[in-house]
Order: sequence, then structure tokens, then C-alpha cells
Amino acid sequence: MSIAGNIALIRETLPKDVELLCVSKYHTLAEIQEAYNAGERAFGESRVQELVVKYEALPKDICWHFIGHLQTNKIRALLPCVTLIHGVDSWRLLEEINKEAAKLNLPSVRVLLEAKVAEEETKYGFTPDDLTPQCVLDYTQRLPHIQICGIMGMASFTDNVAQIKREFAALQTLHNSLTPILQEVYPTLTPILSMGMSEDYPIAIEHGATLIRIGSGIFGERL
Ligand SMILES: *Cc1c(COP(=O)(O)O)cnc(C)c1O
Repeated sequence: MSIAGNIALIRETLPKDVELLCVSKYHTLAEIQEAYNAGERAFGESRVQELVVKYEALPKDICWHFIGHLQTNKIRALLPCVTLIHGVDSWRLLEEINKEAAKLNLPSVRVLLEAKVAEEETKYGFTPDDLTPQCVLDYTQRLPHIQICGIMGMASFTDNVAQIKREFAALQTLHNSLTPILQEVYPTLTPILSMGMSEDYPIAIEHGATLIRIGSGIFGERL
């Protein structure tokens, strides 16, 4: 199947209000251009240097999303190129992004807070208990160069469907708990729930994902 064919198959069953992010990490400019020619404009990368190179080489109407683990010394290079930073996993990182955004005179860098709900051990992310509405509200007010647009999460890497459902349900609960304050702080925002990858995105959509991140299902296996 071609890249355009894979995209068409995914789009066929995708509800209209769910955004498709094409995860292009490790794939070539030519492959990304093929997805672009099929109409896609949102691409996700997990390494800053790779994102910057692709940003410079490809059409400027592409929206680049950063989905990797962000190191503070890479923030400055990333900010001018990125539409949405998915994996903000600590308050310290959020403060650093705000600081760099202030230096670059960027009014509001859009971020998602990464929530750790997987039952398997994972390294990065906030626990749901860290992300109380009051705490998130405080940070939206303290960090004026940041817009917290919602949350991002991943289910465990398992074929236990019941477990994946539990984990996506936990992310949905968290999303629902934060939606009222995000809408109060940012009246024009539709809060984002970024969850679901090639293997599990239909389950994520059942649990209210507003944005799915698909790599191998579009571009094939990564080399
Ligand atoms: C690589 C990656 C994806 C895409 O994974 P696929 O299984 O190839 O669809 C989605 N989200 C994140 C955070 C990733 O790192």
C-alpha cells in the first residue's frame, strides 16, 4: 500500500473532529512530501534537529508537532519551527519553555502536558494527581508565554485490550477534569486530548481522543 493509500484508509473511518498527525520521524523528505501531496499538513517529529531540518526543507504551510522528550538546551532551536509541543513532562520544562518564549518574543507557545497513565513502567510524564485543575490554572496564570492546550498520553505497549481501554479512559477522565478551566482561561480554545497510535487509535477515538498520532500505519516500518 502507498502512503496516500494508507492515509485514505485511515481518513475514511476518522470522525471529522479528530485531527490526524502524521508521525514522520526517521522518514525521508520525499515520503513526507508524498503525504503532503495527499493533503496532509500536520507532521510529528521526536528529535529537535530532525524537525528543524525538515521544517527548513519542506513547504511552510506544514504544521510541525514535537512529540519526543524535550531537553531544555534544545528549546530555543525548536520554538520558531513548532506548532504544538506534545510531551511537556515537568513544571520545570514548562517554565524553561516560557522563559525562552519570552526571550524570542513569542506570545503563546502551545503545549500539551504529558500524563503518565500506563500500568507499565514509563519514564516520562505527570501522574494524574500532579495535574489538578487548580495547579494547571496556577501555571496558566504564572507563565504568560505558554498556552496549555490539553494533555497527551500513551497506553502500555500490550495486546491486552482491556488494559489499553482502562488507560485511555484514565486520560479521558483527566482531560474532562481540565477542560472547564482551560476553556475559562482560553475562551477560543478547544482542549486537545492527544492519544492513540497506529496499533491502538480506534480505541483511543472511542475514549474521546481529539488528535491521533500515526507513524507506521502511514509510512510503514521505521528503519
Ligand atoms: C513514534 C510515535 C508515535 C507513532 O507511533 P506508530 O506506532 O508508528 O504509529 C506516536 N506517538 C509518539 C509519542 C511517538 O513517539
